[in-house]
Amino acid sequence: MEDVIPFSRPFRSARELENLATVLASDHAHGDGRFTRSASARIAALSDADHVLLTTSCTHALEMASYLLDLGPGDEIVMPSFTFASAANAVARTGATLVFVDLDPTTGNIDPVQIAEAVGTATKAIFVMHYGGMPVDMPAIGAVAREHGLPIVEDNAHGLGVDAGDRTLGTFGVLATQSFHDTKNVHSGEGGALLVNDPALVDRAEIMREKGTNRSQFLRGEVDKYSWVDWGSSYLLSELNAAVLDSQLEEFDGIQRRRLEVWDRYATELADWAGESSVRLMLPPDGIHAAHLFYLLMPSWELQGRIIRHLRERGVIATFHYVPLDSSPAGRRFGRVLRPLDRSEDFSRRLVRLPLWAGMSEDQTTRVIEAVQSFRL
Ligand SMILES: *Cc1c(COP(=O)(O)O)cnc(C)c1O
Repeated sequence: MEDVIPFSRPFRSARELENLATVLASDHAHGDGRFTRSASARIAALSDADHVLLTTSCTHALEMASYLLDLGPGDEIVMPSFTFASAANAVARTGATLVFVDLDPTTGNIDPVQIAEAVGTATKAIFVMHYGGMPVDMPAIGAVAREHGLPIVEDNAHGLGVDAGDRTLGTFGVLATQSFHDTKNVHSGEGGALLVNDPALVDRAEIMREKGTNRSQFLRGEVDKYSWVDWGSSYLLSELNAAVLDSQLEEFDGIQRRRLEVWDRYATELADWAGESSVRLMLPPDGIHAAHLFYLLMPSWELQGRIIRHLRERGVIATFHYVPLDSSPAGRRFGRVLRPLDRSEDFSRRLVRLPLWAGMSEDQTTRVIEAVQSFRL
């Protein structure tokens, strides 16, 4: 049998080994060195953001966001049910309650109408996630947030550098987060970033990342000693990871171009099969997305498992995605819903993601397409 086509494969950038060797040969392997500065500047330029702090993960950046917003018991956060557990963990850790709402089936993104219904006197913030880098409905969500004076936090793990017309993803919320886990478009093994878009939060974010000390100010020569000034933890990314990240970010345009080529072939070459099979292909409004993932929405729940098995038998690893948080054991413990989230459940049970990574060859892409086309409902 031909080689198995994995669902995803971490990108290998040209300069990462050389960068790593530079760090290891130096006397500076902890964070905040030359590669941290360079990678942060690249993310800032890609995102059009003023303040970028590299972190140990996106989960930790979300945790920082929850602490920066001073969430605590009695507070409520409105967030999507169809997302990864990270934002929910970050909020639950503070003792605040999660209010999960349903999605817009066009994109899988949080539905602004349901946000408006869920906001109450205890609501402290709205958390959103741009699924596949498809922008959430920012005008509508922004209007709800302004009406109630609520900050927005963007989990932008999928959407680094996505141009959403009048702004770039990651600059819409007061705080936004990126992931550099090795399943993401650009990676450092593990890693993340916090984009601080409210200048009033920058100093505290820096202190929080440096174990509650003002070491960053000390390193810039702004204070002559550093001490413990606030609550913090060890959220700073190691220079070793930053060295890999910097090299990957250097090739960002090429990575995106190669991922987009695969994405475009799926969208074009699977269209007829999808039409005949009543399958819906991923349909990004205005064509805006991050080429992070490509999905099919099968016409029934039962067909999700069937096509995944069919593809696996042909050496193609496809997979489902998030199990809605509201129906998960921890979601039931830390959160609540206004009503059953039928659309999240339906979306989750019909969705199938195809392999997508920057190094996929034309042949491999063709094999995935032919394996999908050979599935008869
Ligand atoms: C990958 C991912 C995360 C977690 O990122 P880490 O860097 O592994 O913590 C969070 N949210 C979303 C939407 C993700 O896809």
